[in-house]
Amino acid sequence: MFEHKKDRIALPPSNAQKTQTACHFCIVGCGYHVYKWPADQEGGLAPEENALGLDFRRQLPPLAITMTQAMTNVIQDDDGSYHRIMIVPDKDCKVNGGLSSTRGGQMASIMHSPQTPVGSQRLKYPRLFAGDEWRDTGWEQAIALYSHLTKLILDDAGPDQLMFNLFDHGGAGGGFENTWGTGKLIFTGLGTKMVRIHNRPAYNSECHATRDMGIGELNNSYEDAQMADCIFSIGANAYETQTNYFLNHWLPSLNGQTTDKKQAVYEDGETIQQTKLILIDPRRALTVALLEQTIGMDNLLFLDIEPGTDTALFNGLLTYVVDQGWQDTAFIEAHTTGFEDAVTANRLSLDETSRITGISKDKIIKAAEWHTSQNPPATCLAPCMATRRALSGAMIITVSSRLLWIWCWPHITSGAGVPG
Ligand code: SF4
Repeated sequence: MFEHKKDRIALPPSNAQKTQTACHFCIVGCGYHVYKWPADQEGGLAPEENALGLDFRRQLPPLAITMTQAMTNVIQDDDGSYHRIMIVPDKDCKVNGGLSSTRGGQMASIMHSPQTPVGSQRLKYPRLFAGDEWRDTGWEQAIALYSHLTKLILDDAGPDQLMFNLFDHGGAGGGFENTWGTGKLIFTGLGTKMVRIHNRPAYNSECHATRDMGIGELNNSYEDAQMADCIFSIGANAYETQTNYFLNHWLPSLNGQTTDKKQAVYEDGETIQQTKLILIDPRRALTVALLEQTIGMDNLLFLDIEPGTDTALFNGLLTYVVDQGWQDTAFIEAHTTGFEDAVTANRLSLDETSRITGISKDKIIKAAEWHTSQNPPATCLAPCMATRRALSGAMIITVSSRLLWIWCWPHITSGAGVPG
């Protein structure tokens, strides 16, 4: 057993094995470098003596590398040999640009190892819940039990009495959609349709029919947030939940660091504006607190909505914008039918919207102005999972302003196809 060093970070020697990975914790998919080397070796402080190529004999400039104790561990290979590992964020990755998060920054710590708190809890062998406790068991027994029980159910009741509850996506984690063998076993081998993934009640599309309408459900690239004049965040606590999408794409845009980038792609007549952020959230989450300190209140509009009233807010916004005549009538007439009916069905006055949502009329008007006032509107919509899911089979909602608003808004307000 080799000690996982606690008094310093063991550096990878210059000949350490180096591979690339993506963090598996969330869909942001940040890039990381993985270094692995024999546990009895250690790199030196001079740049030619360590695989990072950095000179640790003197103080490094800020953010020269993000490297913490949690990014290291000692693991044991199948052949019994011990190796040290270091998993550090990749500065050249466009997604995270060398940043880590409290989740991705601990990928090394959670590798199976008796020397780290989470690593020591990782399973190497199957466990069986018997009586009222989990018991260790072997692969042979576990597979025999699984296959015999499955066969009994298939013979007795048919494939749809087998229900699978799975985790799915997440960077390098892949999930069953990317794991050919798992999908093949469930859908083809066993033939069940009863599959749900971690965040949906059924294996349904996040927002059915929108693709048929030509609108993908996750249709913005990360770079869009850098190019946007306005980011409209709905129920998303981005700093805590998609940390590096927020830090590496939203924040530079909000701080004005991407103005040159915008100028490079904008066409004649388009204006460059200070990026503004409209944030709808019933909770004053950490993202709000951080933004108040970093970008200030002039460019932040926090709509602290009563829970469960977002449809009323979208109805009110839709009504107000249409009453002002800010929609792109030519686009709507050329590409849609029933727009007037939809507006009539979802009409809600500012007074009523304010009463239901608890948001002042001034703030609702400001939100409408902020995301339609650019030329043309370059508003990046960032709806949270629940918002998207409310458009899918998870909840039955027919055509509402929520649907109109989120998926069609860029088109309604002439922003379709505009970077950002
Ligand atoms: S934001 Fe954090 S958790 Fe998500 S992929 Fe990046 S490092 Fe991993």
